[in-house]
Amino acid sequence: MTTDRTVTEPIDGGETATIVSDIAIVGGGLAGSLAAAVLARAGHRVALVDKRAVYPDEFRVEKIGGHQLELLRKLDFLSALDGVACRYDRVLNIREGKVVDVSVGQAYGFPYADLVAMARSQIPDPSSLIVDEVTAISNSDDVQHLELASGRRVTARLVVLATGMAGVLGYKLGIRRRVLAERHSVSFGFTIARKDRSPFDFEALTCYGERTADGIDYLSLFPVRAGMRANLFMFRDPTDPIMRELRREPEATVLRLLPGLQSYLGDFRVTDRVQNWVMDLTVVEGHLQPGVVLIGDAFQTNCPAAGTGVARLLMDVDRLCTEYVPRWLMTAGMGREKISQFYSDRDKIAADQQSLKMARFRQALTSRNDIGWDVRRRLHFLRRSLAHRVDQMHPGWLGRVRGALRA
Ligand SMILES: Cc1cc2nc3c(=O)[nH]c(=O)nc-3n(C[C@H](O)[C@H](O)[C@H](O)COP(=O)(O)OP(=O)(O)OC[C@H]3O[C@@H](n4cnc5c(N)ncnc54)[C@H](O)[C@@H]3O)c2cc1C
Repeated sequence: MTTDRTVTEPIDGGETATIVSDIAIVGGGLAGSLAAAVLARAGHRVALVDKRAVYPDEFRVEKIGGHQLELLRKLDFLSALDGVACRYDRVLNIREGKVVDVSVGQAYGFPYADLVAMARSQIPDPSSLIVDEVTAISNSDDVQHLELASGRRVTARLVVLATGMAGVLGYKLGIRRRVLAERHSVSFGFTIARKDRSPFDFEALTCYGERTADGIDYLSLFPVRAGMRANLFMFRDPTDPIMRELRREPEATVLRLLPGLQSYLGDFRVTDRVQNWVMDLTVVEGHLQPGVVLIGDAFQTNCPAAGTGVARLLMDVDRLCTEYVPRWLMTAGMGREKISQFYSDRDKIAADQQSLKMARFRQALTSRNDIGWDVRRRLHFLRRSLAHRVDQMHPGWLGRVRGALRA
C-alpha cells in the first residue's frame, strides 16, 4: 500500500542493506528520473537506481517543443526546464538556400545531461537516488527483488525498467529486442560559432537535404547555453566514408552536402567534439511479466530525425505514473493483469505507433527516389512554402486555418 513517506527505508545496516520501497526504478535517464519525480511528489516511496551519479555528456535529444512541452507542463516540469534550457520561438526553415517557411512556437535547447539533472532535481528526497548498478531482478506476483553490484538489495512492489537501450537486465528476464530496422539512421551533434564571434542572423534554423543520394533529412541549428548547437540527421550507410569526413572536417563537409547553408552561416567553425550515433529501430517482446514494467527507450527505440522519443517517453511517464501505478498500489498483488493495463493503454499505443510511422515517413521522404516519393517530396515542400507566402501576405491566416482544423 502507498504511504505518505517519501523516503525509502533501509532495513539492514552496512553494505548488504536491503532498501524497501513501493516502486524501484532502474535507470535514471530522462524516463526514469521523470517517473521517480512524479511518483515521489505524489507521496510514493521510490528508489531510483542508476549506475552513474551524474548523466555523462552523451548525445541524445537536445531540443524539445510543441506537444512535448504540453506534456511537460501537465507533469509540472516546465518551470524547472526554463531554468536549465535556452528558449527560442522562431525557426527559419530553408532548402536549397531558399526559405521554405518559418515555424513559430515555444521550444528549448539543452545538453541532455542538463535535462536529466533537471528531472532528478525534482525528486523531493535526493536520497531516493541510489548510485549503483542493478545486476539481477527476480519478479513475482507481489514482491520484486533487485540485486545491486555493491551487494545491496532493493525490495519493491513494482519495478520500472527505464534502462534505455541497455538490454542486459531485460534479457535475463526473457525480454528480447526485435530489430525492425537495423542501422536505420545516423545522427551527428556538435556546436558551432562564427569565426568573428558575431551572432548568427537567425534564432534557430532548419536546413533540409537537397539530394536523395546524400541521405540528409535535415540539419537543425538551435541555441543552447554554450552557443549554437547543430543536430544533423541522415539516412545513409553508417560505413560510408562521408561519416569519417563529417567527424574530421565537419565545416567543409556540411557545406558540401548543404551548399545552400553557406550564406546563412558565413564563416563558422565547430567549437567542440563531433558526436555521432547510429540508431536501430527496435521494440521489445516478452515484456508482459508480473511486477515489471518497461518505459522509454527500454520499451521501444525511436528515430532521432522523427523527434518522437521524448513524446513517447513522456506519454509512458504520464500514463504509468499518474493513472496506473497509484491505482495498482491500492490493491494487493502486481500480477500480469495489472501490468497489461499499461501496455494496452490507448494513448500509449498511439504514441508508440506514431513514433514508428514518423520514422518510416522521414526515411522515405529523405531518400526514396521513385516517382511516387519524388512527387510527394516536391508537394510537401511546395505546400509549406505556398502556405508561408500566403501567411506573409495575410498575417495570422495560417494560425486561423490550423486552429479551425484542430477544432
Ligand atoms: C543521437 C540521438 C538524438 C536524439 N534526438 C531526439 C530528438 O531530437 N527528439 C526526441 O524526441 N528524441 C530524440 N532522441 C531520443 C531520446 O533521446 C530518447 O528517447 C531518450 O533519451 C530515452 O531516455 P531513457 O530514459 O529511456 O533512456 P536513457 O536516457 O538512455 O537512460 C537509461 C539509464 O539507465 C541506466 N542504466 C542502464 N542499465 C542500468 C543498470 N543495470 N543499473 C543501473 N542503471 C542502469 C543508464 O545509466 C542510464 O542513465 C534522440 C536519441 C539519440 C540517440
